[in-house]
Amino acid sequence: MESLRPALLEWFRQNRRDLPWRRTRDPYHIWLSEIMLQQTQVATATPYYERFLARFPTLAALAAASVDDVLAEWAGLGYYRRARYLHAGAQAMVRDHGGVIPSDPEVFGALPGVGRYTVGAVLSMGFGAALPVLDGNVARVLSRWAMAPLAIKRPEDARLLWGMAEALVPGAERGDETHRDAGDWNVALMELGATVCTPRAPACERCPVATWCRARAAGRVAEFPPVPEARATESLRRAVALFEANGRVLVTRREGSMLTGLWEMPGVDLEQDMGASPPLRRALGSLGVTDVSLADTGLRVTHTITHHRIEVEVWRGTWTGKRPRASSKLVWADADAREHALTALARKVVEAARG
Ligand code: SF4
Repeated sequence: MESLRPALLEWFRQNRRDLPWRRTRDPYHIWLSEIMLQQTQVATATPYYERFLARFPTLAALAAASVDDVLAEWAGLGYYRRARYLHAGAQAMVRDHGGVIPSDPEVFGALPGVGRYTVGAVLSMGFGAALPVLDGNVARVLSRWAMAPLAIKRPEDARLLWGMAEALVPGAERGDETHRDAGDWNVALMELGATVCTPRAPACERCPVATWCRARAAGRVAEFPPVPEARATESLRRAVALFEANGRVLVTRREGSMLTGLWEMPGVDLEQDMGASPPLRRALGSLGVTDVSLADTGLRVTHTITHHRIEVEVWRGTWTGKRPRASSKLVWADADAREHALTALARKVVEAARG
């Protein structure tokens, strides 16, 4: 361990990717980047990160914004619960912690949406706290180093992996609360997993810690980490009504468990053998949209979200009577602007319909 650490840290300092959130020690900036990167690739997250900070440069600015403005800035990144947690977290920090990220792991970890990973990442990088991180990259590296058949998705394995990560953080063996290398160490482990110890075809020949890797020594790298059984994909059917006027589309606010608060054209989930028109009319009626005619465009848009594969039938709506007024549930949105946070599916439907 005494020579493994300097080897990895030295490699990291020479090879680190120059990313915007690595040029700062501001815990707010680090927190934002960590939340964005949890389910988003670096290349996709970077412009969002820069735009988000330009719009909400401080925790106070984020806390003072409306949740709709925050969601609109997040639109297209997916996993919108992250944006809601950021907003709620910023409000709690302004209200209860003087507008700064608390450096105490227990206090920070009690904020909305802040789990153990986020605590370790933000406090080690922002404050030098000797706390571990564990994500898919770190778990893969640890599983291979130790040749341990541990998969992060299995709760019992995750507990063991956390224990391994904890023991490796600089300062941990002496029980230090902080260490100047703790943040770099965590990022180095994640960076190794992201760029060298990749899921398929890891570049062991240029790995800075190959000497300490048991799976490599045994020629069994491909077996680690074990792959837990994949969850089956569920096929769903949905119909949506597309109303367009003056370059705007009629959208309604989603409710329910997924993507709550985002905007999407009115629609309805369908059983596999069900006709779409009557339930779609009923869904429209419940929003006060009556006196319309609906025509199947024949367009089918496929969208995958978590383990659901949704086939969406696009129906064109036209008014036969008076248009409904915009309300808190129904607005005309410019699909190209960020004024309303549309779901990725809504954007796909508009793009498909516009050819
Ligand atoms: S030697 Fe290969 S398997 Fe082992 S940590 Fe390095 S890249 Fe990963």
